[in-house]
Order: sequence, then C-alpha cells, then structure tokens
Amino acid sequence: MQGKIIVSKFGGTSMGDAECMKRSAEVAFAQNSKLVVVSATSGTTNDLIELATTSEKSTWENAQLILTKIKVKHLKMARDLEMTPEKIDGLNQLFEELESMSRGVHLLKDCSLKALDSIQSIGERLSSLLFTEAIGIILRQKNSSRIAKWFDAREVLITDNQFSKARPLTAEIKALCLEHLAIVKHTDLIFVTQGFIGRTKEGMTTTLGRGGSDYSAAILAEGLGADILEIWTDVAGIATTDPRLCSDARAIPEISFKEASELATFGAKILHPATLLPAIRAHIPVFVGSSFHPELGGTWVKKDVDDTPLVRAMALRKKQILVTLSTPEMLYSHGFLYQIFKVFNDHKVSVDAITTSEISVSLTLDDSTLMNRDLILDLEKFADVQVEENLALVSLIGNNINHTAGLAKKIFDSIGEINVRMICLGASKHNFCFMITEDKGVEVINRLHNTFIGESL
Ligand code: ASP
Ligand code: MG
Repeated sequence: MQGKIIVSKFGGTSMGDAECMKRSAEVAFAQNSKLVVVSATSGTTNDLIELATTSEKSTWENAQLILTKIKVKHLKMARDLEMTPEKIDGLNQLFEELESMSRGVHLLKDCSLKALDSIQSIGERLSSLLFTEAIGIILRQKNSSRIAKWFDAREVLITDNQFSKARPLTAEIKALCLEHLAIVKHTDLIFVTQGFIGRTKEGMTTTLGRGGSDYSAAILAEGLGADILEIWTDVAGIATTDPRLCSDARAIPEISFKEASELATFGAKILHPATLLPAIRAHIPVFVGSSFHPELGGTWVKKDVDDTPLVRAMALRKKQILVTLSTPEMLYSHGFLYQIFKVFNDHKVSVDAITTSEISVSLTLDDSTLMNRDLILDLEKFADVQVEENLALVSLIGNNINHTAGLAKKIFDSIGEINVRMICLGASKHNFCFMITEDKGVEVINRLHNTFIGESL
C-alpha cells in the first residue's frame, strides 16, 4: 500500500484503558499510520520505578503488592480487549521477567540504572502488546486487509550505554530502520512498537529518560524517512495560552519549531519540542492532537511555517525568583559575567532571562533554586546578592518581536498600572518576556491575550 509514511505516537493517557486504546486505534486506522509508537499505560512507569525501589529497599511482600497491581491492571485490559489465552501468554512472560528482575534486585539489595531500565522497559512492552490487539479489533471491524504487527523497538533503536538517559546512535538507527521497518512503505502492515526504550550495541536494554516516547517517535520518523509525525495526547494541540488561565485560549493551527521551543521553555507544559528535534531536522512536520477528540484538530509544529504572526502565543511561568548580583568592582572591569556564569554552571543551574547594567546583573531562576544554599554562598564570593521572591515570568512568543516598532508600547499599555520588575527584549526574534509579581499573573495574561489574540470566535 503506497501513500504517506505516517508515524503516530500515543501517550500514556491515550493508552489509559481498553476503551482509550480502541479510541486511539481508531485514530491510527483513520490516519493510515504505518508505524505506531506507544508509551506505557498511564501511571505504569511510575509503578515500575516504585517496584524497583521497593524491591531494593523494602520487603519482598511489599514489592509483590506492586507487581500484583501492575498485573491486575494489564490483565483487565487484556480481558476487555478479549485477548486469546495464547496472546495473554505473551503478557504473562513479561510479568515473569519482571518478577525475576525484581527478585534479583531484592536479593542483591541493589538497583543499578541498568536494572532500572530493564524493569521500566516492561511498561512499554506490555502496552504495545495490548495496543497491537486493539488495532486488530478496529481493523476487523472495518473489514480492513491491513495487519497489525508488534515490533520490538530495540531491534532498531540503538543507543549509547548511559542507562536512564541513553542517547540514540543515529547512523546505526537509520541503517536498521531501512533493514527492518522500510517494508511498511510497500505493504499493508501497521507496525506497533514501544517508545522510550532502546538497546546498546551489546544488547542491553536502555531508556531515553522520562517522557522519552516522543523522542523515540521522532527518532524513528527520522530513521524511516517519514512524511509526517503525529503526537497524540489528551489535549487538542498547543494553545495560545494555558486554558486554565484564560478562557479565550484556543489551539494554534501551526507553530515553528523555534517558537514552540521558546513556548515550552517559558511555561507551556504540553510537550518538549527538543524531543521532536530528529523529526524537525529531517523536515518532517509534526502534528499534535488529542486521541480523545481527534475531530478538534490540533497543531502543526514545523521547521518553516506559512503564517508568522507577531504574537502567536503567551505563557506564564510561575514560582520565579529574581536574583540581582551587584559589585562596584564590575566598573571598567571584565570577567564578572564569566565568574557568575561559571558558578551557575558548576551548580548545573539553568538561567532563563538576564539583564545587565554596568555594575549589576539580574537573572530569573526557578524558586526551587533557593534550596541550593551553596549556590548563593558561591555567588556571594563575587557579588552582593539580592533575591526577590513570588514572581512570575510572562512571555509573548511570536515572530520578528525584536524588530517591531511599537510592540513594547502596546504591551505596556495593555497591562496598565501593573508593575513590571524586569524586561528581557532583544536577544530573540521569537520572545519578549518580563517579570511581574505572581499574584498579577492571570490578569496580565488575560489582558495581553485580549490585546494580541482576541476573544475566541
Ligand atoms: N513511559 C515513559 C514515562 O512515563 C515514557 C513516556 O511516557 O513518554 O516517562
Ligand atoms: Mg508519558
């Protein structure tokens, strides 16, 4: 069967129970997906991590309680999907593997990252077996000649050996995708595979880090030379702002990869565009939609977009602090910024927005950074440190932001008398951000949304 090569990824909530799986399978069928990448069923990765730590640190009875919970949940889905005893055997083998691994961890009282990755892999391996079944049901209902086939992602997704945050080896993956998966281009097969997991060249199971299924899907889309990557989740795309903050928020039809990255960094939670990079660099457009309501449409994330509005979206990042570092020694000298950023680097703390004057630097950080007393002490070696709390960072995301006359006026007119504590404009074409006190956050977002995006139709 020729046609577009579509890779579709379904997240944990889209795999929540048998009904969710069938709904997601309908979506995969309607989209004519060739390769489906799935997350573990919702909550299961957390359960598996809890199982691993309980096995290591607690009694075997406690570990068994979690094992039973995982088994019961998946066997219920299997029953609801009317799986045959032979197919249920496939699940049982995974439960046995999981029990043996947990037992090993318990006896050794040692859970290495390597062991943890193998234990976590069971989540996606179980869900992909169930989802293959769900697609089979939909194909039979539709009298389709297509065939759903389970595929072990570890056959192609080769990684380095940094267990729990393994990096993909792109060249190897491409070659193996051609060998094992390119067949979908010319057949009636729908491959169903696991997100999140891979293997080292030596054959050890790895994972790409929490939430890694989007990344897997993007890597496989690149490896396969797909035409489209779809990310199916529980919201209908990326919104103009968080709908919980502003009732006029609505889905954005398309957004560039760069804008989406700014949006994610500055507060939007939906997906982290960095994980889409393999698809974006291969010029594969990415669609984000809701498997619960596919009819609502969604958002296209692309390298280049047709429409480039000045303001496309806005975000509020709460729980921010503003750290101001000042020193008279900065006058006429150099190296101050270097010293400061070296301290942040040594503490692995990421700084978001910065402004400087001759003798001071202000930067925004998550308030959790305050827990790191050593960071503050190290900064105090170079400068006088002042910390302001209970702030929020507002960002407007769009295009040509640093070259548009009158934009700042329009922004500050619309927020009126509300005090702005810090402004960051100029570095990015795509982002204008400023700080306000957190209690004014919702009001500011609503006023700006009204000015730049308007009421929903
Ligand atoms: N199941 C993994 C997790 O919960 C990967 C994913 O869902 O993307 O982190
Ligand atoms: Mg997930």
